[in-house]
Amino acid sequence: MPIALAGALLVAMAWTAPTFRHALVVSVDGLRPDAIDGPEDGALPGFRRLMRGPHTLQARADADTTITLPNHVGMVTGRPVGGQKGHGWTENGDPPSVKHGGTLHKCRGGYVASMFDVAHDRGAVTAVFATKTKFVLFSQSFDEDNGRKDSTGADDGTDKLDCFACVRTSAMAREMAVGWLRSRQGPSISLLHFAAPDLAGHAKGWDMAPQSPYRQAVEEVDRELDALLRAIDEDPALRGKVAIVLTADHGGGVPFLTHTEQQAPENYVIPFIVWLGGDGPAAELVALNADRRAVLARDVHAGNELSPQPIRNADAGNVALQLMGLPAIPESVHNARQDLRLSEAPSADGSAGR
Ligand SMILES: [Zn+2]
Repeated sequence: MPIALAGALLVAMAWTAPTFRHALVVSVDGLRPDAIDGPEDGALPGFRRLMRGPHTLQARADADTTITLPNHVGMVTGRPVGGQKGHGWTENGDPPSVKHGGTLHKCRGGYVASMFDVAHDRGAVTAVFATKTKFVLFSQSFDEDNGRKDSTGADDGTDKLDCFACVRTSAMAREMAVGWLRSRQGPSISLLHFAAPDLAGHAKGWDMAPQSPYRQAVEEVDRELDALLRAIDEDPALRGKVAIVLTADHGGGVPFLTHTEQQAPENYVIPFIVWLGGDGPAAELVALNADRRAVLARDVHAGNELSPQPIRNADAGNVALQLMGLPAIPESVHNARQDLRLSEAPSADGSAGR
C-alpha cells in the first residue's frame, strides 16, 4: 500500500470522540420531554442549544421506581435501583445520619462506587451542586470516612467528593457550579441539580399548558442553562472543554400532582441530552444506538430483565466518564461498556463512532 494512502487510512481509523477536561451531569428534577419539545421559536434557548448535540426525548428513568433520590443514585453509580446488581437505595427522604445507616454502602452491604470515585482516583476534582437536602446522601457516602481507598496511580485519598453544596435556588446552583468550574486548573466532574420543575409540579401539577407554573419552572431552569453555556463560551479556559450530560430523574403527572406511578410513560419517559461543547452535530440517540439499546414504543414499560436495555438516566455517569476518557464505574450496569454511540463518525476499532 502506498505510504500516503496508509497514512490517510490510519488517520481515519484513529478518529475517536473528543475527550473533555470537564464533564457536568445536569439533572432537571421532574423534567418531561414534552416540556422542551416545541417549535423553534426562540423559546428555551438553553435547552435548544444543548439539543443541537446528540440527544433523545425518549430515554427512561429506572425500571422500578420513578422517584428522585433512587434515580439520582442511579445516575452517579450506573446501577439500577433493584436487582442483584442494583444500588438498593429506595428511600426518597433526607437520609439518616451515617451512624444510622445513611450511606449507600451501609444500605447495600458493600461498597457502591460512583463516577466520583473513578474520576477522583485519577486526579480529577469532583462536586455536587444540589437544590434538595436529600442529596447529602452523596456527601455522607463519599466523604473521607466512607469513601474507598484509592487503588489507582497516585493516592488521591478516600474523600471522593471535593465539594458538596446544597442551595435554595436554581440561580444559586448555577452560580456555584460556574464559579467552581472557573477556578479549576485540572479536570473535573460534577453533578448539578435543579429542583424547580418538580417543586412546581407537586404544588400545581405537571400542567403542560403554556405559562403554567410547571412550564414557568422549566423556563427558570432554561435561563440558568443559558447562563451556564454563556459562562462557558466567555471563558477561554472552558470553551470547548466542557461536556454536558443532561437528563431527569423522572417526568411527572401520574397522578397529576406527583410521579409515583412507575408504569406511566408520563413519569418514566425523560430526556437524555449530550452537549459536546459546540453546536451539533445533532443526532437522535435511540435511533443512533438501535443496534445496542432497546428501541421501544413510548407506552411499553421495560423492566431490568430486558436486554439490551433502553437508554436510561443511569447511563449518565458512565457517559460523563466516557467523555473525559475515563473508564466505567466498577460494577456498574448501565453503559458499563461505555458504548453509547454519540456520533456517526467511525472510531478506532473500526465500528461506528462513540
Ligand atoms: Zn418529586
